[in-house]
Amino acid sequence: MSRQLSEEQRLMRDSCRGFVDDVVIPFIRDNWQREWDMSPGQRLPPAILEAADKIGVRTLGVPEEFGGVELDRESEVRTFALIAEEIARGDCGLADKLVQNWKISILLRNLAPRHLQEHWFKRLVAEPQLLFAHCLTEPRGASDRWLPYNVPEAAMQTRAEKRGNEWVINGRKHFISNGFDAGLYIVYANTNQKAGVLQGTSSFIVPRDAPGLSVARCNETMGGRFMNNGEIVFEDCRVPADHLLAENNAMQKASIYFHPGKIIQASKNLGVGVAALERTADYVQNYVQGGRVLIKHQAVALRLADMATRIEAVRALLGRAADAVTDGEPNADALCNMAKVFASEEILKVCQHAMELHGGNGAMLEMGIEKLFRDAAIFLHSDATADISRFKIVKSLFPHTAGKYAGPEA
Ligand SMILES: Cc1cc2nc3c(=O)[nH]c(=O)nc-3n(C[C@H](O)[C@H](O)[C@H](O)COP(=O)(O)OP(=O)(O)OC[C@H]3O[C@@H](n4cnc5c(N)ncnc54)[C@H](O)[C@@H]3O)c2cc1C
Repeated sequence: MSRQLSEEQRLMRDSCRGFVDDVVIPFIRDNWQREWDMSPGQRLPPAILEAADKIGVRTLGVPEEFGGVELDRESEVRTFALIAEEIARGDCGLADKLVQNWKISILLRNLAPRHLQEHWFKRLVAEPQLLFAHCLTEPRGASDRWLPYNVPEAAMQTRAEKRGNEWVINGRKHFISNGFDAGLYIVYANTNQKAGVLQGTSSFIVPRDAPGLSVARCNETMGGRFMNNGEIVFEDCRVPADHLLAENNAMQKASIYFHPGKIIQASKNLGVGVAALERTADYVQNYVQGGRVLIKHQAVALRLADMATRIEAVRALLGRAADAVTDGEPNADALCNMAKVFASEEILKVCQHAMELHGGNGAMLEMGIEKLFRDAAIFLHSDATADISRFKIVKSLFPHTAGKYAGPEA
C-alpha cells in the first residue's frame, strides 16, 4: 500500500505516526489505569484531542471552505483508512472518537442544508472537544435494520412526527459511540408506520441542547474505553423543520456514510492488530526463556508468522474494498462487509496470539496486551454483527433468493 501513497497521504501518515508514537502511546503506557476511571469525562485529557487537532486529523471530511481538511476525493476513502489505522495503533477508543466526526461530516456535507453545514462545521473546527454521534441502534433493533427486513414490523421504534414548523421525536437510542459526550446527534426515526424501514425512516440533525433530549447513561464497555458510549432518550424532543436530513429514504441516503464507515471500521481493527504484532515482535526478540530469546523457539516463530499473514490478508482485502468504494463498483457493498467481518475475526486471532506469546504477562493490565485483545473483541459486533454482515454479503451476491424476506410476502 505504501507504494501507492500520494505525497499528501504520505505526509499525513507520517505526522499521524509521530502523534501516535510521541503522544498517544506514551499516554496510554503511563496512564493505563485511566481507562478504568468511572468518571467518563475524566478518562481522556483534553490535551489529546487538542494534539489531534494540531495535526489536522480531527476535521477530516469537513469542506475546506469551512476551515476543514478536505481530502482529494479520488483517494479520500484510502486516506481515511490510512489515518484510522494509524490512530487505532495508538488507541482504538481515540480512533472511535475521531472517526465519528469524519463520517458524520460526510453525511452533513452531502445532505444538510448549507446554513446548518456552516453552523456545525464552523463549530467543529473551532472546538477541539466537540464530538458527533450517529444514532441508529435501539433496544429492539440494530444492524439487522441494514439487511433489511423491509417490513413495518422491523421498522425503527423511535418515531418522528411533523408538528407545525418542528419535528417531534420520541424514543431511545442505545450503544451509541460518543453518545455520552457528543454535541450533535444524527438520529434515525420512523416517519411512516405503514412502510418498511427503507421507505419509512428519516434522519435528523439533533443538537445536544434540543429540548426533550437527555443522555441517560454512559455504557461501560470492555474495550475502546477512551470513547464514551452512551444511551440517549428523546421525550417530545423538538427540532426545527430544516433539521431533517433525509425524509423516508434515510437508510438509502446513509450509504454515503456506511461505505467509508465500514472501511474505517476495518482499518481501526487493523491498527489494533498492527499494535499487537509490533509489540509481540519486540517482546519475543528480547524476552529470554529456555536460554534463548523467545523467537528462537520455533513454535513462537510460527505464531508470529501467522500474525503477520493475517494482518497482510486483512490489509489486502481492505485495499480492494476501499478501491471498490472509490470507483463506485456495484460490488462495493459486499466488499465493505467482507472487509469488516474478515478483519474482526482475523485480528481477534492476532491478538490471541499476542496474549499467548506474552504468557502470564499477557494477562497483566499494566502490560497493555490484554487491552488489545479487549479492543479487538469489540469489533466483532461493531457496525453489524458477524452474522448480519455475512447475511448482507450473501444477499448482495444472490438478491433474488437469499435476499428475500423469509417471512410472509407482503
Ligand atoms: C462499543 C459500541 C459502539 C457502538 N456504536 C454505535 C453507534 O455509534 N451507532 C449505533 O447506531 N450503534 C452503535 N452500536 C451498536 C451496534 O451497532 C450493535 O450493538 C450491533 O449492531 C448489534 O446489535 P444489537 O446489540 O442490538 O444485537 P442484536 O441485534 O440483539 O443481536 C443479538 C444476536 O442476534 C443476531 N441477530 C439479530 N437480528 C438478527 C436477524 N434479523 N437475523 C439473524 N440474526 C440476528 C445478531 O447477529 C447477534 O448475534 C455500538 C455498540 C457498541 C458495543
